[in-house]
Amino acid sequence: MNSHIMPTYARLSVTFARGEGAWLWDEDDKRYLDALSGIAVCNLGHVHPAVTDAICKQSARLLHTSNLYQIAAQEKLADKLTEMSGMTNVFFSNSGAEANEAAIKLARRFGHSKDIDVPTIIVMEKSFHGRTLATLSATGNAKIQQGFAPLVDGFVRVPYNDITAIKTILSENTSIAAILVEPVQGEGGVNIPDGDYLTQIRRLCDEYDILMMLDEIQTGIGRTGKFLAFQYNGILPDVCTLAKALGNGVPIGACLAHGRAVDVFISGTHGSTFGGNPLACSAALAVLDTLSEGNLIAQAAQKGDAIAKAFNDKLKDNPHIVNIRHLGLMIGIELDQPCGELVTRALEAGLLINVTQEKVIRLLPPIIIDAQQINQLVDTLSALIQELTA
Ligand SMILES: *Cc1c(COP(=O)(O)O)cnc(C)c1O
Repeated sequence: MNSHIMPTYARLSVTFARGEGAWLWDEDDKRYLDALSGIAVCNLGHVHPAVTDAICKQSARLLHTSNLYQIAAQEKLADKLTEMSGMTNVFFSNSGAEANEAAIKLARRFGHSKDIDVPTIIVMEKSFHGRTLATLSATGNAKIQQGFAPLVDGFVRVPYNDITAIKTILSENTSIAAILVEPVQGEGGVNIPDGDYLTQIRRLCDEYDILMMLDEIQTGIGRTGKFLAFQYNGILPDVCTLAKALGNGVPIGACLAHGRAVDVFISGTHGSTFGGNPLACSAALAVLDTLSEGNLIAQAAQKGDAIAKAFNDKLKDNPHIVNIRHLGLMIGIELDQPCGELVTRALEAGLLINVTQEKVIRLLPPIIIDAQQINQLVDTLSALIQELTA
């Protein structure tokens, strides 16, 4: 542990030296199977050749010029992103929190345009939207907010997957400008809502003329078996935020708008020095080209089903499994007991996993994981779970 780095993370004692696909190697050349993908970032696996090639070529040509000028790669990326998502226009940022900051600012401007004095956004319990002041205020986790008062105003909170609670607030509170929600809650414990949850939210947002804003930072870019999770519902949100896997490891975020959200930001209302720079956009373009050329997104759905089924088979007689849930390659195995120690035990066994909400094993393997690696993941982790719960 380096004392010159602020101790904001309780890091595991391993340093990775290189990676390839679903594999990582530490400094002693021990090999690990990565079932976390740098927290849903390296969806195409480590050091994907198309991304590496794009970064190398772009870095030899031009890294940065600022948004005071036209940026060809940014324009191409915006075209491709809107084509693949059905959204209309994009603001580029460098991270997920910044993409959500853009969405929150957009919602406030939209509210003021409707003469709402204190535009308010409905957010969910157990949500995660980032660590900046506005996004941690939107986040439904007291631990993340602890010590950072005064928080940013203008959020009201309801339980996740509860349409009635949203309806109640909408009928009572005339200051609501938007609803911000994750299609599947990641940090909150891989919580998958009812199949018509997003469709119902879409209807309510239309009825009340407010913005439907989806945080797809973790669910997006093929992770759930669709390019974006809302595509399961055949709807379009007004705002959608992306980051994590968009650059497969190169920092980039995006706030996409459609419908009544398209014209809210005008010249001078938002900005970013780095946002959408040539290097990051070239990487993201390579990611989107790779995803749309092959059948990788369909594979995410198939592999997710296969992994969940394999865990169900292996663990069906274990009474400590509450349930195994997944949407594509967003997989949660909930135990009836705290299981954080599985993370270090798995690390020793050469496997990278995550535990969230103390009792939920969260798996976010790369979409390129192969059948043999899936077997290794299922065998290794099932054995560790059996051992822990024995
Ligand atoms: C990771 C994440 C964020 C924050 O992204 P950063 O790039 O860490 O700022 C926001 N929302 C969701 C759903 C996330 O998973």
